[in-house]
Amino acid sequence: MTDPEVVVVGAGPHGLTAAAALLGADPGLRGRLLVADPAPWLAGWDARFARLELPVLRSACVHHPAPAPYALLDWARARGRTAELTGPVGSPGTGLFADFCRWLVTRSGLAGARVPAAVTRLRPRDDGRVEVTVGRRRVRAGAVVLAAGGARPHVPVPRARHSDRVRLSAVRPGQRVVVVGGGLTAGHLALRAADRGARVLLVVRAPLRARLMDVDAGWLGRELPGYAALPPAERAAAARRARPGTVPAAVRDALLGSGSVQVRQGTVARTAPGCVQLADGATVATDHLWLGTGSRFDVRAHPVTAGLATDVPVEVVDGLPVLGPDLSWGGTRVFLTGGLAALELGPAARGLAGARMAAERYTEAVTGVAPARRQYPAPTRSAGAAAPAARVGSPVCPTSPACR
Ligand SMILES: Cc1cc2nc3c(=O)[nH]c(=O)nc-3n(C[C@H](O)[C@H](O)[C@H](O)COP(=O)(O)OP(=O)(O)OC[C@H]3O[C@@H](n4cnc5c(N)ncnc54)[C@H](O)[C@@H]3O)c2cc1C
Repeated sequence: MTDPEVVVVGAGPHGLTAAAALLGADPGLRGRLLVADPAPWLAGWDARFARLELPVLRSACVHHPAPAPYALLDWARARGRTAELTGPVGSPGTGLFADFCRWLVTRSGLAGARVPAAVTRLRPRDDGRVEVTVGRRRVRAGAVVLAAGGARPHVPVPRARHSDRVRLSAVRPGQRVVVVGGGLTAGHLALRAADRGARVLLVVRAPLRARLMDVDAGWLGRELPGYAALPPAERAAAARRARPGTVPAAVRDALLGSGSVQVRQGTVARTAPGCVQLADGATVATDHLWLGTGSRFDVRAHPVTAGLATDVPVEVVDGLPVLGPDLSWGGTRVFLTGGLAALELGPAARGLAGARMAAERYTEAVTGVAPARRQYPAPTRSAGAAAPAARVGSPVCPTSPACR
């Protein structure tokens, strides 16, 4: 293995966004960009959508891994598949999104760029390069984009199965299913279990809140300059507050209108085999106890970032590292994307929109090529103030009045 110029760690949506953006900015990187992941392209994403039987994404058609915002829409139009873009923001169907991503991998010449091995260590060197341990090999890269996901399931209830491990096919008609959580994953699991003939209790901390996307659209634009000006601890708190569990209105209506799903406000106090006790004392028998309680990022829990933090300590707030405006770790040539970059990118960091925002931040630092057009505000932290008044704007879904 010769030394690559860039190593992207992770072949998920964030890794694909990174690789496509970097090659788009500097086609000369072709053959010198390596993507390390033991799993095939988007394997984790595909498995998640299949396990939960999610037929459609929640995000808009302009949020995908290709650099041009309307690439997915144009691709669907060219193949007569626009019917697979649905809802107010043209959310792509699961199959359409997967096919588009496969096409993008091939089109970008990335099929042969993936090395099927895990990165176990990143060690920034004095000469500015980064020593990357990939499987049993060590390479020296000019830059690394860490796109390894790594959220840990949040498991606030013992003896329960987190949505990461739920098997819907295990549900039999007449069984009793308790689902905990007020977000789309919990709501979706409740409806799918009901489809299978189960009697479902959905336990929510607060009344179901309806929202189209998991993060308010302001977090892709107007909220970001103010966010960037906050101290890290306040950013962490704001990012947490901005992501309460929410469901699209249609899912809320389906849950409230279902004869098989009971939505009950409360929390789980105790569990025993086959039984759940709620905080108000009610006891409920259950065959399946599932958690749609989300996941959390913590640099200290991820072996690669934990090692990096030992070599190059950075401030960590609420498990999240304080990065440079270009998402670099402690002034090194390691750049982060994904949920771990939320102190820089805001609450949308972990999703597909966040992957695009991240690419816009690190691409110039990695390739030396400035983006032709910025879609998202970029902070000028040294001034301690909001972003410059460059013309920015999130692309809208041209099919959707909701986006205009
Ligand atoms: C049920 C569900 C539905 C969702 N729907 C949407 C949606 O519609 N729209 C949206 O924008 N977001 C959605 N999200 C959020 C979604 O998880 C993220 O957008 C996305 O999966 C994160 O991508 P990622 O590349 O950061 O992580 P992942 O998809 O987890 O990919 C990370 C990759 O890194 C690899 N990796 C890990 N460690 C290493 C290592 N040490 N070396 C090499 N490789 C490594 C892994 O094998 C994996 O392939 C959804 C999330 C869930 C749970």
